[in-house]
Amino acid sequence: MSSLRVRSAVSPLRRLPAPPVELPQALPGVAELVAALRPEEPLHCLRPHTLRATAETFVQAFPGDVLYAVKCNPDPAVLRALWAGGVRHFDCASPAEVSLVRTMFPEAEIHFMHPVKARGAIREAWARHGVRDFVLDSRAELDKIMQETAATGVAGGLGLVVRLALPKGGAVLDLSGKFGAEHAEAVALLRAARPVAARLGIAFHVGSQCLDPVAWRQAMALAGAAIAEAGAAVDIVDVGGGFPVVYPDVELPPLGAFMAEIEAAFEALELPGARLWAEPGRALVAGGASVVLQVQARRGDALYVNDGVYGSLADAGALGFRYPVHCLRPTGAAPSDVLRGFSFFGPTCDSADVMRGPFWLPEDIAEGDWIEIGQLGAYGACLRTAFNGFDRARVAEVCDPAFDAA
Ligand SMILES: *Cc1c(COP(=O)(O)O)cnc(C)c1O
Repeated sequence: MSSLRVRSAVSPLRRLPAPPVELPQALPGVAELVAALRPEEPLHCLRPHTLRATAETFVQAFPGDVLYAVKCNPDPAVLRALWAGGVRHFDCASPAEVSLVRTMFPEAEIHFMHPVKARGAIREAWARHGVRDFVLDSRAELDKIMQETAATGVAGGLGLVVRLALPKGGAVLDLSGKFGAEHAEAVALLRAARPVAARLGIAFHVGSQCLDPVAWRQAMALAGAAIAEAGAAVDIVDVGGGFPVVYPDVELPPLGAFMAEIEAAFEALELPGARLWAEPGRALVAGGASVVLQVQARRGDALYVNDGVYGSLADAGALGFRYPVHCLRPTGAAPSDVLRGFSFFGPTCDSADVMRGPFWLPEDIAEGDWIEIGQLGAYGACLRTAFNGFDRARVAEVCDPAFDAA
């Protein structure tokens, strides 16, 4: 090939971050913005105050270090708000995420939590960005990390975290199919990593949107079994992400129930000197953004809207996620109080660009109306693709509280 072009999805610093100090006070409201902009492209509405408050709550509730899983929403405004809420650790999985976080927060603790990394990514994270902790789930990855960090090992402050595979549990999205060492392999890796690691950890992920606090207790017991069999002293037990958020018709145990299970299970392991880590993504940011769509056509109970599964509504497609919705109609007659269940068709020509819902909206909703969809701060904007040319969206910071119930 004579020329190579690079397109970057995580356009870091798309909007130059202000120093991470005070959040702006006088932000507009969503309804006000829609009335003024009458947006024909999806409009992402970030709620810095919600993000900050959610981070504060989680950081206070969790008995260890809270690593934000950056992939969930890498928008600089989101990262700034989380920092303001006390998040100092970041779970990164790519060189772009590492460099974004390092550029914004020179003091941040960055942890490279992808079990399969490019060699250059390890080198750059280690040498250029001061990343010291790396996750692994195979002997080959351990060798790779040792080679690319020049095997400085204990003296160099290398942290090695073994990712344990879990049996399929009660999470909506299982994450063990792809990553994680089975018990015997995890034992071998803990033994192999101990002599070369300044810090040794074990990590797992119960799966995303996991509604059952007991999943963490069970996972912790499996981690404990691996640690015991390895006979290796462990410095970190990383309970991963997966903490759920509220979506329509989802019953949610309180955050404290998850923390209580984790704390009790951790104490039962009797690992003096070990520290807990968590890697929440969804739970920190879902409530921190909504997206405003416009209805471009109505056909019966189907609404043709300007965002879909190739935009910020990926999980509403194949996974059938439902979100809180409401209609915004800045001018004309107020929308009807009578609700009706609608499905959405996204803007692309792909017939898979459909979101069944049902989404409960006024029965008289019509072309030109806007729909605000809540709880889209997690796995929303970051999943947008350029397919069919519908890659444009606007982002605004707003003062509204989280829109988590219709
Ligand atoms: C995606 C991911 C997370 C965040 O998961 P949530 O379900 O959003 O909390 C944490 N850790 C790892 C390794 C991940 O891949």
